[in-house]
Amino acid sequence: MSNIVAIVGRPNVGKSTLFNRLIQRREAIVDAISGVTRDRHYGRTDWNGKEFSVIDTGGYVVGSDDIFEQEIDKQVELAIGEADAIIFVVDVETGITGMDEDVAQLLRQTQKPVLLAVNKVDNTKREADAVEFYALGLGEYYTISSSNGSGTGELLDALVEILPEREEKEEEELPRFAIVGRPNAGKSSFINALIGEDRYIVTDIAGTTRDSNDTRYDRFGFEFNLVDTAGIRRKARVKEDLEFYSVMRSVRAIEHSDVCLLLIDATRGFEGQDQNIFWLAERNRKGIVILVNKWDLVEKDTQTTREFEKLIRENIEPFTDVPIIFISVLTKQRIFKAIETAVEVYKNRSKRIPTRKLNDVMLPIIEHRPPPSNKGKYVKIKFCTQLPTPVPQFAFFANLPQYVKDPYRRFVENKLRENFGFHGVPMDIYFRKK
Ligand code: GDP
Ligand code: GDP
Repeated sequence: MSNIVAIVGRPNVGKSTLFNRLIQRREAIVDAISGVTRDRHYGRTDWNGKEFSVIDTGGYVVGSDDIFEQEIDKQVELAIGEADAIIFVVDVETGITGMDEDVAQLLRQTQKPVLLAVNKVDNTKREADAVEFYALGLGEYYTISSSNGSGTGELLDALVEILPEREEKEEEELPRFAIVGRPNAGKSSFINALIGEDRYIVTDIAGTTRDSNDTRYDRFGFEFNLVDTAGIRRKARVKEDLEFYSVMRSVRAIEHSDVCLLLIDATRGFEGQDQNIFWLAERNRKGIVILVNKWDLVEKDTQTTREFEKLIRENIEPFTDVPIIFISVLTKQRIFKAIETAVEVYKNRSKRIPTRKLNDVMLPIIEHRPPPSNKGKYVKIKFCTQLPTPVPQFAFFANLPQYVKDPYRRFVENKLRENFGFHGVPMDIYFRKK
């Protein structure tokens, strides 16, 4: 479980440059492994051993050059509600603008930790110019240059210092399910159908402790915690028209979950926003079940389900080993099947394959189809084991692990999936020196 840090500020102050600098190193590794284009506005990183997520709020506004002040204010308010710490970026080249003052005013009212980063301080002369930002009334500031990196280390030191400590483990080992999806996919209706209208009460106030808002579900033989339903309860107050809002909500819920039930609206297909949420969950190594909701509204013939499923799988390559269930919250069609599947995925995610069994199955497969030779060198894989991590990770030990390429990694992953059943669960495979 990690903290969320939001980068806020008006356009062109250098938010995305800072964002890239903060997540660069780690994301580069993730990209190389998964081969997936990442969402450029959300990433995970760590500093001094503390892990956290970073969100570039500006990145979610299209045409952000002429963004309305109102929009920025809305984003800042949301960031205050959802993030654990806020980095407010201003620009030493332009000095304080009216928009900066508006943002500062909002930030002065929050209890959440705020770090003021005066950006574009590329040289010592500009260091002196930064003094004017005291006038924002946010106290001490950090001078940084996002483009050359100076000062960002100090900013990060301060950041991890103020991030609240989080409990790593829940006392109770109930599965934690998050219902995620774009606005109007049917999330609230789904939760209502599960827990009943009467318990669906608006109690939450923006920014109060959210982690305690899990709703325990215990009916029909299923027992789990619904994560962050509060985010959905508050829906009535914030209009979720921007992608940013749903992403912000999703990030929170996804990170706190074991399995994400991704609801999509069958009448709209599987769109960019659905895909973004899918990859958020995948990158966080959460179990995933895709629920195609409002199936009652779709005119069906014998091919419809298969075609829809195919369309989704094409869009989630290469991680296609994911359950897809067609449901209707309205008619309650298959909603318990959905929960049943989520429970299975939860079990898959915590599955442990004994080393002996793993080697007995995998070594003959590898022997039969070894990694292709590279520059006349042959890779020999001698041994494999599942690492003692909370989510499935496997290490394969070889003489020349550096020569194992992505296609072979995928081959091995597919064989693991075929033989041991990790439906709905992202996994990591490492090749290491024996
Ligand atoms: P955003 O709209 O707040 O996300 O801002 P961007 O990150 O897109 O940056 C806006 C412009 O400022 C770009 O032309 C960047 O190259 C430039 N920029 C960002 N950081 C720095 C910096 O530290 N120094 C200088 N000189 N320019 C910067
Ligand atoms: P949320 O924004 O994801 O929480 O979506 P809501 O639960 O508010 O649902 C959005 C709209 O879709 C509401 O008008 C629901 O009544 C409707 N809806 C939700 N599920 C279904 C379904 O299975 N079938 C039909 N026909 N409508 C649905």
